[in-house]
Amino acid sequence: MTSIRDSYEAVIGLEVHAQMLTKSKAYSSDINEYGARPNTHVSSITLGHPGTLPKMNKKTIEFAIKLGLALNCKIASHQHFARKNYFYPDLPKGYQITQDTTPICTGGFVDVKLEDGVVKRIGITRIHMEEDAGKSIHDVDVYDTLVDLNRAGTPLLEIVTEPDMRSADEAYAYLTEIRQLVRYLDICDGNMEEGSLRCDANISVRKKGAEAFGTKVEVKNMNSIRNVHRAISHEIDRQIEVLETGGALSQETRSFDAASGTTSSMRTKEAANDYRYFPEPDLAPLFVSQEQIEAVKQEMPVLPKELFEKYTTELKLSDYDANILIITKAFALYFEEVIAQTKNYKGAANWMIGEVRSYLNQQGKDIEDFPLEPKSIAELVNLIDSGKISHSAASQGLFPEMIAFPEVHPEELANKLNLIQDSDEDSIKGFIQTVIEQNASEVLRYQSGEKQLVGFFMGQLMKASKGKADPKAANKLMREMLDNAK
Ligand code: ADP
Ligand code: MG
Repeated sequence: MTSIRDSYEAVIGLEVHAQMLTKSKAYSSDINEYGARPNTHVSSITLGHPGTLPKMNKKTIEFAIKLGLALNCKIASHQHFARKNYFYPDLPKGYQITQDTTPICTGGFVDVKLEDGVVKRIGITRIHMEEDAGKSIHDVDVYDTLVDLNRAGTPLLEIVTEPDMRSADEAYAYLTEIRQLVRYLDICDGNMEEGSLRCDANISVRKKGAEAFGTKVEVKNMNSIRNVHRAISHEIDRQIEVLETGGALSQETRSFDAASGTTSSMRTKEAANDYRYFPEPDLAPLFVSQEQIEAVKQEMPVLPKELFEKYTTELKLSDYDANILIITKAFALYFEEVIAQTKNYKGAANWMIGEVRSYLNQQGKDIEDFPLEPKSIAELVNLIDSGKISHSAASQGLFPEMIAFPEVHPEELANKLNLIQDSDEDSIKGFIQTVIEQNASEVLRYQSGEKQLVGFFMGQLMKASKGKADPKAANKLMREMLDNAK
C-alpha cells in the first residue's frame, strides 16, 4: 500500500479567513468583540433593516494593505465591493458584502521553512475584504437552532493560496507562518479555537509526473492547525483509496470530524449555491493611492523574518535559538529590550529560552504576565559576566528570589542572599593556602604528575569558601599555588 501511495502526489490550496481586530465592524459602528452576550452588538445595519446603509470602516483597508505588503502582493488601486447572495438564518441581509472581481491584494507569495530546513515558496492568489455572517448555534438547545448575530458584519480578510502545497506538512507550516504573521501585524488574534482564524483546505491527488490536477475536494471545520494537518492527511488517503478501487471523485465540500479524524460529504458541486454576485450599490468604489500604501509601509511593525535575520546574522545566534525567540511578538520584543541593556546576546538568549521560558511554561503564563522587567534579566546576565555571581547561583538562588521580589535590584538581592562571588585574589589565595595545608599528600601526588587532582582541590576550595570563590579566578591561582607549594 505504501508503494501505491508513493505513486501519488497531493495538491493543496488553502483559503484562510482572518477576523480583523478592529474596534468596530466592517460596515457599521457596532462593537467588534468576541464573547459578548448574544445579540448585543446588533444595530439596524447589522440586522439589515430596509433603508439602512453600510459605511466603510477605513481601518479594514489599512489592515488589508498591511497583510498584502507582508505577503509581497500587488495592491489594487481601484476596487469595488460585491454582494454575494444567499439565504441563511445567520445572514439577515440575505447577502454578504465581499470583493469578487477586484480583490485588494493579488499575486503575492510567502516563503515557508519546512521541518527539514527546505524553504518552500507558496503563491498568494488574492486577499480580499469581506464581512462575517452571524453564528448558528446547534448544540445549546436540544430542539432549536439559536442564532447570535454579534458576529454578523465582523470584518474578514480572506487569503487564498495557489495550489502550491504538496503535503499536510507544508500546509501546516504555511498556516503556522500566516498565524504568526497576522499576530505580528496586530490585525488578527490568530485564535483558531475561537474561530477568529479559519481555514478551508482544497485537496486533490494525481499520479506523480502527471501535469493535470485531479478533482478537488474542499474540507471545512478544522479548529486548529493540527486538525488541518489531520484532515488533509486523511483526505489524501481517502482520495487515493477511492481512485485505486476504481471509484471516481466528485467535486464536493466535506466536513472534518475531529473525534474520528475523518471527513464526510456536506454538499456536491451540483448542489452548490449560485451566489449571483453583483456590484454592491450602497458602497462607493474604493481607491487606494500610492501615498496611502507608503503611509502603511512606514507604520509596518517589525516582522518575524526580519528578527530571525537579525538574530542569526548580527547577533550570531543559532537558527534554533532565533526561532524560539520569535515565536511570539511579545517574547521577541521583550528579548529586544534585554539586549538593549547587555552586550552578551548569547547569554541573554540562553536565559530567555531557558529559565524564563520554563518559568512561564510551569506557571502557564505568557511573557506579558512575567513579573520581571527586561532590565532585570540584562542585569542578571551582566552579574554573571562580571564574575560577581556564578551561573548556578544565579539560576538556582537569585532568579527565583528576583521573581518573588521583582522590585529589588538584582545585585542588592544577590548581596542579601550572600550569593556574590569572591573574586578578590587575596581572599581566594587565603582559601587555597588552607586547602593546600590540609591535603599535603594530595599535593605531593599532584606535583608528581596527577594533574587531574586539580578537580579535587577545586572541590575543597568551594567547600572552604562556601561556594563563593569565583571558579574562573580560582582555577588559575590554584594551579600556580599547587606548582609552587613546598
Ligand atoms: P473554486 O472556484 O471552487 O472556488 P478556485 O479556483 O477559486 O476554486 O480555488 C479555490 C482554492 O482551491 C484555491 O486555494 C486553489 O489554489 C485551490 N485549488 C484549485 N484547484 C485545485 C486542485 N485541483 N487541487 C487542490 N487545490 C486546488
Ligand atoms: Mg473561488
